[in-house]
Amino acid sequence: MRVSQLLVPTLREVPAEAEVVSHQLLMRAGFIRKAAAGIYTLLPLAWRVVHKIERIIREEMDKQGGQEILMPIMQPAELWQESGRWDVYGPELFRLKDRHGRDFCLGPTHEEIITDLVKGEVNSYKQLPLLLYQIQNKYRDERRPRFGLMRGREFIMKDLYSFDKDEAGLDISYRKMFEAYTNVFRRCGLQFRPVVADSGAIGGSDTHEFMVLAESGEATIVYCDNEGCDYAANEERAESVTPVASPGEAPAKLQKVVTLGCRTINEVASFLNISPQKMIKTIIYSTDKETVAAMVRGDREVNEVKLYNALGCIRLDMADDETVARITGASPGYAGPVDLEGVRLVADHEVMALINAVCGANEDDHHLVNVNPGRDFRPHLVADIRLVKAGDPCPVCGASLREVKGIEVGQIFKLGDKYSKALGATFLDENGQARPFIMGCYGIGVTRTMAAAVEQNHDDRGIIWPVQIAPYHVIVVPISTKDEEQVAVAEQIYRRLNEAGIETVIDDRPDRAGVKFKDADLVGYPLRINVGSRGLATGEVELYLRREGSITMVPVEGVVEAVQNALKTMGYTT
Ligand code: ATP
Ligand code: MG
Repeated sequence: MRVSQLLVPTLREVPAEAEVVSHQLLMRAGFIRKAAAGIYTLLPLAWRVVHKIERIIREEMDKQGGQEILMPIMQPAELWQESGRWDVYGPELFRLKDRHGRDFCLGPTHEEIITDLVKGEVNSYKQLPLLLYQIQNKYRDERRPRFGLMRGREFIMKDLYSFDKDEAGLDISYRKMFEAYTNVFRRCGLQFRPVVADSGAIGGSDTHEFMVLAESGEATIVYCDNEGCDYAANEERAESVTPVASPGEAPAKLQKVVTLGCRTINEVASFLNISPQKMIKTIIYSTDKETVAAMVRGDREVNEVKLYNALGCIRLDMADDETVARITGASPGYAGPVDLEGVRLVADHEVMALINAVCGANEDDHHLVNVNPGRDFRPHLVADIRLVKAGDPCPVCGASLREVKGIEVGQIFKLGDKYSKALGATFLDENGQARPFIMGCYGIGVTRTMAAAVEQNHDDRGIIWPVQIAPYHVIVVPISTKDEEQVAVAEQIYRRLNEAGIETVIDDRPDRAGVKFKDADLVGYPLRINVGSRGLATGEVELYLRREGSITMVPVEGVVEAVQNALKTMGYTT
């Protein structure tokens, strides 16, 4: 391809709305353009990268016995009503009506469609296991579409669904996908980590997320660095270690004290000259069922995902000031569990280990001291509801946990019979008995993976594509397009590289070399060949490595071999 003909509209300026590097660089390097919030056109270079990621995914899915299909994007509401998700999915679901007023949605995921399909087409255990997948656009009306391709409202996903006759079969399918995902992200040239995750609205039990490690990641991963321990979990899910009450202090008499104007944990702690660890933080939530007072130690945060799971509710929001006032009789900042009525009290384990603690008195400008959980209030539920932080003990080995940021590029779930039961999808087992399929689902964000690759592979000049997913491998740049010899040699190298199966472009634009070099660095071609008069004087050209920034002189006759060797060193395989 000739750069003069290629649609690569590079920009000098950083687009104002682009907050993260991948969004900035994919815009600046001419890979994507926005059509609406969270909705993008992929230009030729981006589409090539997507194709390469998809090819790797297809190979790894097929290797595990996956069969590719294509399901409809537009899905009838009835299936979603049957599974119960029409009401649960909320505003993230794009809903539409046809001319007859029938309800449809644009698929954010395809459990309903595929379960219904398999229900109709598969009826014997002899046809199992069955692994079906597709690569297709997904639609989610995200609350905050942002970061370019990272969190779009329309994006490309690979989703595979496994159907087994029992849990043991599901274990095998799950392990196959775990291996396939590991291979996919390794082959894409990414540094990643599988972590234990929360199963969220999709239901099910076991689940792992595949996280690309990057500062800009929206997810926090806690992991154990101890040798031999490989505990790693999404912060949403990371388990706390239940503390043991430290004996010694004798419970003292409950007292109310004036804490004029002190609302926050820190204000109260410094006013009373105590550590926040001595305090009970009480946060009021509203769910679809009830009002809840969640309690964690003063130095902790409530993990809303854990709280949500512990309550088994459908909706969980922090209560508004009016609700707080109605429940506690005080303004926000003075809530506490003692004599608090009409709410469900949920305490973290750590709260129950406190002796002579401090909490809000449910009265403006007052707190209670010498509060003893169990004596002064009894929670309805004691559960692990706090956020785990770096420095907390590992739940497996007890060593100190660390934190990193990650981008979730894939997730695998064990669904069990959640969808097959809801939709009545059964098969006949060895004894002729009808049983629900045991399912798993497995997603990879294809466009998000492209963005994550940029987050991990760039410098101040632009993108540095891992060779396996680079849009092209080589760019040939004649330094001066006015020099006939340079142009002829560049054209010849361009032709020979393409003939050798190496994906090569030639920058035949009449611009200055500096402009062309800048663009090439921005786009991130792994290799560049500079054809200039100085080199040609001795029959040589420059071979430039984008990642290293190094240049070696190569004889014109040996260019194909030198490029092949360089690609091999980068880990390129066809
Ligand atoms: P997130 O927690 O980031 O919203 P999710 O858990 O809802 O993602 P899944 O339902 O597990 O996502 O979807 C599978 C994969 O699809 C994700 O791992 C991610 O790579 C990708 N993905 C999900 N939502 C988006 C989005 N809005 N834009 C781009 N890719 C996405
Ligand atoms: Mg997920």
